Amino acid sequence: MAAGRIETDWLSLAEMIEESAEVLAFTGAGISTECGVPDFRSPDSAWKRHPPIPFDAFLASQDARLEAWRRKFAMDDLYAGAQPGRGHAALARLHAAGKMPALITQNIDGLHQRSGIPDADVIELHGNGTYAHCLDCGGRHELQAVRAGIGATGAPPSCDCGGMVKSATVSFGQAMPRAAMLRARSATLSCDLFIVIGSSLLVQPAASFPLLAKENGARLVLVNREATPLDAAADLILRGDIGDLLDPLGRHPGSRPQASEKTPL
Ligand code: NAD
Repeated sequence: MAAGRIETDWLSLAEMIEESAEVLAFTGAGISTECGVPDFRSPDSAWKRHPPIPFDAFLASQDARLEAWRRKFAMDDLYAGAQPGRGHAALARLHAAGKMPALITQNIDGLHQRSGIPDADVIELHGNGTYAHCLDCGGRHELQAVRAGIGATGAPPSCDCGGMVKSATVSFGQAMPRAAMLRARSATLSCDLFIVIGSSLLVQPAASFPLLAKENGARLVLVNREATPLDAAADLILRGDIGDLLDPLGRHPGSRPQASEKTPL
């Protein structure tokens, strides 16, 4: 199968958004790199220095839990204070305009919510790294308290109920959140335009949603600076920097921007 049409500006995407009844964005780590949050697979990624601990190892030993927290706080410190970027802002405009009722994200950084999209409309497939929770009772724990507790006791945190406390993210080997998966599936089946932004589409089962949308009749757009395994299935590929590509979207309510306003790449 031939690759989808490849373009380097936003005009065709703006047209497709205008033509569609319901847009669904599906975001990955690439939308947050301009905010200072490293993505996972780029060659110099800080995640390679602090790789996440798999879920079974986390459960198996206190040392692994302490190491998981050490690595998490080392990563958090790298991007403490990160603010939503131009891609987040463009999607928040799309949501505010009523074009995109919800979005699916693989990200754990909470930046879509910070950009103004209500938490209820952000479907987080891999959880959220801005807080922790108890693996038994589900109770929420704040990171600051967890950090202070580890500093004071040298032991990994536990809940009042006795359960282990873990960052509220989905680790490798951990079950996907059932409610988020069901919501993502339902949103995928009701959209007529599915836009993947900043994902290598290598992580399953998350990466199955774009194909499901396509099989269900939606048009599929990929916005990324490099090729992905789904390029051949896409109707349109925008190749370039996400912030540059998405920044002009939705800045002209009620009318399609003129070609002369095209941003240089
Ligand atoms: P990935 O790192 O596998 O892929 C990111 C893609 O975005 C790459 O193809 C990269 O070339 C592209 N990219 C990066 N910056 C870009 C830019 N400015 N413009 C255009 N393209 C850009 O990310 P993934 O597919 O989301 O998978 C990584 C997994 O790790 C996810 O499951 C996620 O949970 C987790 N993760 C999350 C964050 C976060 O929350 N911000 C960061 C790193 C990893």
